[in-house]
Amino acid sequence: MRITVWNEGRHEQKNEKVKAVYPTGIHSVIADGLREHGFTEVRTATLDEPEHGLTADVLAATDVLLWWGHMAHGDVKDEIVERVYQRVMDGMGLIVLHSGHHSKIFKKLMGVNADLKWREANEKERLWVVNPAHPIADGLPDYFELPHEEMYGEPFGIPEPDSLVLVSWFQGGEIFRSGCCFYRGRGKVFYFRPGHETFPTYYDKNVRHVIANGVRWAAPTNGPRVWVENRTVPLEPLPDAE
Ligand code: ZN
Repeated sequence: MRITVWNEGRHEQKNEKVKAVYPTGIHSVIADGLREHGFTEVRTATLDEPEHGLTADVLAATDVLLWWGHMAHGDVKDEIVERVYQRVMDGMGLIVLHSGHHSKIFKKLMGVNADLKWREANEKERLWVVNPAHPIADGLPDYFELPHEEMYGEPFGIPEPDSLVLVSWFQGGEIFRSGCCFYRGRGKVFYFRPGHETFPTYYDKNVRHVIANGVRWAAPTNGPRVWVENRTVPLEPLPDAE
């Protein structure tokens, strides 16, 4: 499995608090978590690299792409978004993390703005598994907690997920669909909510477990491609037209 972890990487440069939690960048901590789960081909890419580190060659050699972005969604070039979109349609898995709900690629894939409510109040998040039969729930407890997170609240403006695996409850009382699976073309998309930049969420063992399971679930399958075709020749003879 060839994995690319993409991170905008701006908070780590601008905010001392974030730098203290993720001195080598959010991407490298997510990549470490994947290596801990036995994945060996894990590379990283960031916004400020040429072509945002997502050249056609890199994407062609990526089975699953992870995406963390927040303050610089608008700086991601449309041409790169289109390239990622085409790869998802062609079967590449995509894991969208936390504030990536407002990334261009997620909005394009969902067809909506994916708006939500939020509160930065350093509160507890409790994530419940609501579909224990789903591969992303494999090996998870029935719930787990993160002591410090940002709140995201419903209604989350997404299309109905093809599967819902996790729902979060927050100390302040809101709930949120925090683990959502979608099929797009012959690709798979998993949105996973936790991961605010000022909290050590990507060091958490359950979070790493969910991300590793998400990568396995989103791995490409070899189904037929989706393409445009005027099928003038039918498979079976048709009755003569009048
Ligand atoms: Zn956040």
